[in-house]
Amino acid sequence: MQRRDALKIMAAGAAGAFATPPARAEQDPPGEIAWSRKVPVRYAADVAVLGGGIAGVAAACAAAKSGAKVVLVERFAITGGDLTTGGVAAFCGETAGQGEVFDEILADLDKFHAVTIYQPFPKADHRNFDHHLLAIVLQELLLRRQVKLLLHTRFVDVRVGSGGRISECIVCGKSGPEALRARQFIDCTGDADVARTAGFAVMKGRPEDGLQLSMSMMAFVRHVEPELAAPQLPEGWFAPVRSKAELPMTSIWPNGPRSNALKIKIPLFDATSTESLTLAEIRARRRALEVLDYYQRQEHKPWRYDGCSPQIGIREGARIVGDYLLTLADLRAGRKFEDAIARGVYPLDGHKPDDDQRTYILKPSERHVPPYQLPLRSLLAKDGANLLMAGRCFSGDQLALSSARVSTTCAMMGQAAGIAAALAAQKQTDPRLLDPQDVRRVVEERGGKLT
Ligand SMILES: Cc1cc2nc3c(=O)[nH]c(=O)nc-3n(C[C@H](O)[C@H](O)[C@H](O)COP(=O)(O)OP(=O)(O)OC[C@H]3O[C@@H](n4cnc5c(N)ncnc54)[C@H](O)[C@@H]3O)c2cc1C
Repeated sequence: MQRRDALKIMAAGAAGAFATPPARAEQDPPGEIAWSRKVPVRYAADVAVLGGGIAGVAAACAAAKSGAKVVLVERFAITGGDLTTGGVAAFCGETAGQGEVFDEILADLDKFHAVTIYQPFPKADHRNFDHHLLAIVLQELLLRRQVKLLLHTRFVDVRVGSGGRISECIVCGKSGPEALRARQFIDCTGDADVARTAGFAVMKGRPEDGLQLSMSMMAFVRHVEPELAAPQLPEGWFAPVRSKAELPMTSIWPNGPRSNALKIKIPLFDATSTESLTLAEIRARRRALEVLDYYQRQEHKPWRYDGCSPQIGIREGARIVGDYLLTLADLRAGRKFEDAIARGVYPLDGHKPDDDQRTYILKPSERHVPPYQLPLRSLLAKDGANLLMAGRCFSGDQLALSSARVSTTCAMMGQAAGIAAALAAQKQTDPRLLDPQDVRRVVEERGGKLT
């Protein structure tokens, strides 16, 4: 099914009995305008990090530790991305040996009694944490490291000179559009916003039709006395789920005392499209109430709706084409690289993109991977002189992403990108002209376990 058809169907389905006209899928624009404006160069830095998810926070903190002047731009009120605004409250994979930034995050969460105890992977494949407290831990860590934090500020545009050198990017917060000048830029938006805006090569989805790994909404329920747990979905609203067979893939996660999170699969939307992402959010909130209604009516769970995460969880947006593309074959072979700067251990967790069931791209017997390495080259944008990337938008194929997207590996990538960017800024050179062994050495000195 083509995404455009799928979107129309999902949009119509999302409306259900509570009909609004089906939202339009993206259409060809009715025209074009040229737009220009003078803006102040408000900020100057050695390293600018765009996007404050776990990769962006790790990048900013690592660059600051290397002595760089760092600005971190985040469009929401808090950093943490999928882990906080997306409500994903678990670190998957190996949590030890991810480097000193991640160690400090864990140590701080532990001080708040906000993370479950350590067990080595694969004895335990994840650790739960309190995602509200993580937002505070991350902001305090950034401030301790003197990272200049711009919240409610969106990366909007970029000025690219010859050879793919970025001189400034345009960011827009409540003060309006302003320029941020830096020697090195790190795209940690998860969706390759900087590279896409710069016109650098990017890729997304599976090769045959571009469908991305499905999104999921984290919806929260509060456990209440049975008399307060009456079904909450009014008659005539949406399309309630009447049987287990009709349920979309729903995983029930812990969420602290007297609460659970329901992770609900929302496939077929594109996180890099304004209209598609809008439809995904609408669809997801409706779906949350439909699923809750099932649990209230059919399974008599004493649950009340406690809200959805502020944004839908996004597993895949767009990935930047780097100097090296990490592939499924590399992961299966547990490939080692001379310029290794991060390590992954998590299985190939590719949620099948074209249905809402508990389906995966690979059979269970095909999902295991041995520990594998990520090379520095997979964090260097092929078309850019001074653009690195880390996290979900690194250079890898879709199945490589399905493993490397876990927060532990994203944090490791972030730390390495920050170290490389700071070193390049210090030496007044480009990251690809560095000796990769210098980056690798610092990664290892800072506790990043590569073997
Ligand atoms: C439903 C779901 C469940 C998951 N479960 C787990 C799990 O149990 N364990 C695990 O380890 N991993 C899990 N993952 C994967 C993991 O959470 C993410 O892949 C990882 O956190 C991504 O980190 P990131 O920093 O690359 O991207 P993100 O977390 O997406 O961060 C990107 C940041 O950039 C900001 N941003 C984006 N565009 C702009 C812009 N233009 N201007 C300014 N800021 C911008 C965003 O607001 C965000 O803060 C899950 C993912 C999903 C979606």
